[in-house]
Amino acid sequence: MRRRTLLALTALPLPVAAQPRPIAVASFSILGDLLREVAGEQVDVRVIAGPDVDAHHFQPRPSHAEAVRNAQIVVRNGAGFDGWFNRLISSTGFRGVTVTATEGIALRRATPTPGHNHGSEDPHAWQDVRLAIAFVRNIEAGLIRANSAGQAHYRTRANALAARLEVLDDWVRVEIARVPEPRRVIVTSHDAFAYFGAAYGVRFRAPQGVATNAEPSAQQVAGLIRQIRAENITAVFIENMANPATLRRLADEAGVRIRGRLYADALSGPDGPAATYEAMVRHNLGLMVPAMLG
Ligand code: ZN
Repeated sequence: MRRRTLLALTALPLPVAAQPRPIAVASFSILGDLLREVAGEQVDVRVIAGPDVDAHHFQPRPSHAEAVRNAQIVVRNGAGFDGWFNRLISSTGFRGVTVTATEGIALRRATPTPGHNHGSEDPHAWQDVRLAIAFVRNIEAGLIRANSAGQAHYRTRANALAARLEVLDDWVRVEIARVPEPRRVIVTSHDAFAYFGAAYGVRFRAPQGVATNAEPSAQQVAGLIRQIRAENITAVFIENMANPATLRRLADEAGVRIRGRLYADALSGPDGPAATYEAMVRHNLGLMVPAMLG
């Protein structure tokens, strides 16, 4: 196994500035973690939009262009989430392997909010653990495409990760089942959990749509406050990478307590509670379930 791995490494074309390891670049932290898990230590995995960063809107720096230029493989989410990464890829003349993590996934339509988001796709597929397994398979296929000699290595690692995610997915279902169906309602900053909601039977409400740039109207916020009161919703959360101001005001006016910080579109730093995709799912569930219960 070890010998095969080393062989795989030497078969990869080395980038111009003699790097010891091949470089793979992911657009944002969640993809970066899945990529790291599948690629292993022998690949130098770089992440552009790092921990706690809103990857809906991101301004790459020259160092990011340099990383992409030297990479053999890049991984993007697609579905309109990381369009800035597409521009970065084409601006650098990158000619390696491009993986679109959401490829082959039946994407949800974004919930239309008045005036915008009509017809757009919801990019947050990673919040359904089974769809994250599809991400893993797309990443595995891309790594093999970039370096066929490493096939067995990537396949072994992808299979191990997929197996862990199957167990995680089962655990999420068991946890959600503890909450009586009428109590399964959660309020968050923006519409990042529709895939989670569809997969696990939880209703999500957010003052903001699937993107994070448009401010919700006073009418939308007022409507949500009425709903929180009428349905006695207790699971109200801010998100790690979104501005908490609207949610704080909303919770204040609805007279409910914010029950913590969900990790929606980005992981935490290495010392935080959601340093990996798997830790993120466990952390979010650990907050969601008691909050929904009251
Ligand atoms: Zn988002």
